This record gives sequence, structure tokens and C-alpha cells, in this order.
Amino acid sequence: MRTPVFAANWKMHKSGLDAVAWVREFEALTKDLGAEAVDVIVAPPFTAIAAAVEASHGSGIAIAGQNLHFERQGAFTGEVSAEMLKAAGAEFVIIGHSERRQLFGETDDSVQRKVTAAHAAGLIPIVCVGETLDERERGDTLTVLDRQVRAGLDGCTGDRIAALILAYEPVWAIGTGKNATAAEAGEAHTHLRRRLREWFGGVHADRCRIVYGGSVKPDNIQQLIGLEDVDGGLVGGASLNADSFVSIVQKATAQQAR
Ligand code: PEP
Repeated sequence: MRTPVFAANWKMHKSGLDAVAWVREFEALTKDLGAEAVDVIVAPPFTAIAAAVEASHGSGIAIAGQNLHFERQGAFTGEVSAEMLKAAGAEFVIIGHSERRQLFGETDDSVQRKVTAAHAAGLIPIVCVGETLDERERGDTLTVLDRQVRAGLDGCTGDRIAALILAYEPVWAIGTGKNATAAEAGEAHTHLRRRLREWFGGVHADRCRIVYGGSVKPDNIQQLIGLEDVDGGLVGGASLNADSFVSIVQKATAQQAR
């Protein structure tokens, strides 16, 4: 049984003060709920990580970086290493987000190096994969996912596959308000699980959490979380407001409890 996980990707939004306010609101909204069997991760901008870590002590929220550099240190102006994220209190890190791939030249090779660096520093990667609209329309979705997973996770042991989070994020659904249908998400998630089984073994693949990302909102989460291989969500826009993020988590856990 995999514990569902929901990660909030704040992208380039929110200061440290905003992060503290969000965590306080999250706590107020969830205080009467009892211990839900769900993991919650928040990925603030680098500058808000320390404040988010401090504010989230005892809240059940874990903090993630949104990116890292694969080198440990050096002359890389503007970059942050895995060790630096770890020292700031992050436990997870998003790697290979489509905005990094499309806007900042991230490649399958750099994803692989970042996954290795994250593991070396004791961070758990949230590795994003997903096809563009062109690739989907050409019928290449599963081929693209195969390439991204095979290259990005190359060198990972089975234990590391079991612990990491794989995020299926169709690029055409991110920030567009247009989510994948249950059939589209189901096909991709089932395919990813099958490939993880083939490449890393069934025991490890069955423990790995595969989450969906792409315009997740309170009104569409239930159709997605009901799918067998969807273990949670990576939420961008709808996570900026604690109320809508909590609503997504609550609706998902209610659906899973059925
Ligand atoms: C994301 O940033 O990973 C994402 C899925 O964004 P949105 O929910 O806004 O589509």
C-alpha cells in the first residue's frame, strides 16, 4: 500500500513571510482532521526555504527545493547545490520540471546528474517526466516517457526507485487549466509502473509513488486519484492558496477511503 503524496510547487511565488502565513493557514485548516495517511510536501523558492522549514516544524509538512545544481560547489553563479538544500532543511527536491526543461535547457542527462547529486546529499528526488502537445499528437507519448525515465533514472538502485517520487506531468496540461483525462493519465501511469517493474524490479516499482501534475484542482482531483497507479499530485497554481491545496488533499483522501 503506497501512502498518497501531494506536493505544492510554488514556482517563483511567495516570500519567506508568505510561506509562514501559508503554513499557518494550512495548519488551521487541517487541525481537526486527525492524522491522515497522506504525505504533504511544499516546494517554495530557494529564498523562502529556511522560513518554510522553520514554520513547518510539527505540521507534518516536508520541504522541497524546486531545482538544484549537480555539482557540490564551485563557480556557478546563481546556482544551489544538493548539500545546500539539505543544510537548509529540505528533504525533497523537484528535478526535471518541464519549465526547467523548456526554459532553462534541462536535458535528460542533466536530470540524471541531478538525481545522482540529490541522492548523494540525502535528498529524495521528485522526478518530472511528460510529453509536449506535439509529441502527444504524433503518438509519441509513451516513447518520450520511456526515454525520460530510462535516461533520468539511469544508475538508480531499486531501493532508490522505491523511495523517489515520479511525477507524470504532460507539458500541455501545466498551467493551462487543461488537465489530462482519466484515460490519458491512467494510460501514462500504468505504462510508467510497468516500465519501472521491467527496469528496476517489481518490489521496488510497486513502492514508488507516481503522482500526476497538470492543472490539478479541487474539482478534478477525484477523477484522477481514483486510478490505480495515481498516488497523488504535484500541484502548481492551485497550491498557492492553502485553502484550495487543502481541499485537493481532503478530496483525494476521501476518495481513497472509499
Ligand atoms: C507544476 O508546476 O508542476 C504544475 C503541475 O502546475 P499547474 O498545477 O499550475 O498546472
